[in-house]
Amino acid sequence: MKWYYAEGGKQIGPVEESALDDLVRQGIVRDDTLVWREGMAAWQRHAAVRGSSNPNPPAAPPPAPAASIAASAAPSGGDVRYCSECGRAVPASQLTSYGDVSVCAQCQPAYSQRAAGPRHFGGFWIRFLAVIIDAIIIAVVSTIIRLPLTLMGIGVVGSGFGRNPDPSQVLAALPALMSLIGLSFLINMGLTLAYDVYFLTTKGATPGKMALGLKVTRADGGPISAGLAIGRYFAKFLSSITLCIGFIIAAFDREKRSLHDHICGTRVVYTR
Ligand SMILES: [Zn+2]
Repeated sequence: MKWYYAEGGKQIGPVEESALDDLVRQGIVRDDTLVWREGMAAWQRHAAVRGSSNPNPPAAPPPAPAASIAASAAPSGGDVRYCSECGRAVPASQLTSYGDVSVCAQCQPAYSQRAAGPRHFGGFWIRFLAVIIDAIIIAVVSTIIRLPLTLMGIGVVGSGFGRNPDPSQVLAALPALMSLIGLSFLINMGLTLAYDVYFLTTKGATPGKMALGLKVTRADGGPISAGLAIGRYFAKFLSSITLCIGFIIAAFDREKRSLHDHICGTRVVYTR
């Protein structure tokens, strides 16, 4: 029977059963040393496989549950490391490191969520307040930027819709007025989009949310990419055109998600 054992994050072996006994006597292989041999589904603590070598074993964590995939547990040379969570042996390249903890691909999603700690989701009313703050900021900036267009519009109205409006002049002025309004609308939309994308990708929150200690994250707690910020901006339209029901559902969701959060897989959380 050939055994392998783990020491200092390295796999050592194969060694014969008798050699392993010697290592146990020498204290090199201890109760909590991870061991493996052909046929075992996963690496396990030595004490769990071959019995305790110590009459008074120290309080050790319970053995990791056997992994479901037996094949991937087989050590076959290369740079093999051990997952801090499940204890399975995996190639070093497949481990994700968090400080001095390294976890395998299977344990990574659960671990990263747990490492981030419990999250507190921003509820409907505080988000509503944040939206109002953002709307005021955008309205002020947008009004200033569109001031030339507004003045041009007033000029058009003044010339075409005077005190004694001439119907033909009014008709002639309408296309110019409509295109000014359209252009103004597009500028406002572009500005709002740029505002969302810039602040969500660089700060993780719009100024309104920052002021209230909120930020937008992905479901796994990660930051928002530009593509996701753009998608979320347009998804907010859907929340609006559903008579704002898309916004209101955040009040009833376990994770306070609005419709656009559901669509984009985002969450709004408190930064503290
Ligand atoms: Zn693992």
